[in-house]
Amino acid sequence: MLKYLVILLDDTSTSFCHYDNRKSESRLMPIETLKGGIRFGMMENLMIQFVYPVDALPLEHLKAIETIDHGVIAPSGSPVSADVVVFNDWDTFLKFDYPDMGTFVLRTDSKQLCENPKYLESVLYQVTRLNIVLTDIETMNDEDFEKYDRFLDELRGIMKRLYLKGYQTQCNLITDRIVLDAMNNCNAGTESITLAPNGKFYICPGFYYDGLDAVGSLEDGLDIKNPQLYRLDHAPLCRICEAYHCKRCIWLNQKTTIEVNTPSHEQCVVAHMERNQARLLLNELQDRGIYDKKQEIKEISYLDPFDVKDEW
Ligand code: SF4
Repeated sequence: MLKYLVILLDDTSTSFCHYDNRKSESRLMPIETLKGGIRFGMMENLMIQFVYPVDALPLEHLKAIETIDHGVIAPSGSPVSADVVVFNDWDTFLKFDYPDMGTFVLRTDSKQLCENPKYLESVLYQVTRLNIVLTDIETMNDEDFEKYDRFLDELRGIMKRLYLKGYQTQCNLITDRIVLDAMNNCNAGTESITLAPNGKFYICPGFYYDGLDAVGSLEDGLDIKNPQLYRLDHAPLCRICEAYHCKRCIWLNQKTTIEVNTPSHEQCVVAHMERNQARLLLNELQDRGIYDKKQEIKEISYLDPFDVKDEW
C-alpha cells in the first residue's frame, strides 16, 4: 500500500540516494502541478516528502507547501530548514556547522569513503543519524569490496567507541541491521511514488532522472504496470534474505539486471558485508552490556544469497 509521495520541486532537486541527478538547468515545478500533487497526496492519505533544489523557491510555492504536513529533504546550502540535509561532497560535509543533532545523508563513492573513515568520527558525535549512500555500487569489484570491508571494520570501531561513551548515533551501514527483525527496504513502487516537475509519476526519482517510463500522471492517475514486481514477495532472492537493512534498490536492479526484482551481485555483497559487521558490533556491545544477549544476528558463510539459493 502506498504511504509516501516524493515531490521533486525542481529538475535540480538534490539526489538523496544511489541515483545521480546530472541536470544543471532549473525547471521549477509549476505551481498548479505542485498544488495538484498536494491534492493527490491528501486524497490518497500519503505523507509527502518535498525534495528541494539548492536555490530558494518562490513565495507561492513555499505557501502551497505549508498547507500540508510534510517532510523536507534539501541539499546543504539550501536556505530551507530541512528534516534531512544531503551532502554531495566531502568538503562541505566536513566543514558543515552542524546544528544540535539531526539527520544527514552523505552521498559518496566507495573510493573516497574508504580513504576517509577517520573523518567520519567527529561528525558522528554531532548528529542523530547519518545515512551513507554509495554512488558507485554497480561498478565495485573484488578489490573495492576488500577496501569496503576494511572501512566497515573501522566504522565498527568508531560506533563502538560512541556507544561506550553513551551516544546512540545511528549510521545506516551498521546500526540499522542491529535493531531490525524483518525486511526494511526502500520499497519504491509499493510504499512510495515520485511526482516529477513535469506532472508525471515515476517509481522513484532515479527513474525520472534516467529518462525511464512514467507510471501515470496527475491528469490520468497512477498506472503502474505489473505492480507485483516491485513487491518483496515477488523478489525471489530478497524475500528469503536476512540483510534486513538493505535498500533493495529497485533503480539499481533495473540499471544492472534490467529486472526490477533482481538485484546485482554488487548490491548483495555490499549489504552482506554491512550485515556481518553489524553482527560483530552487536556481539561486542552485548559483551559490554549495551544490548540484550537474546538479540542475535546469525553467522553466515556467503556474501551473495544467489550463491546459496539452491540450499534454501
Ligand atoms: S542483499 Fe541482495 S538479496 Fe538481500 S535484500 Fe539486498 S538486494 Fe535483496
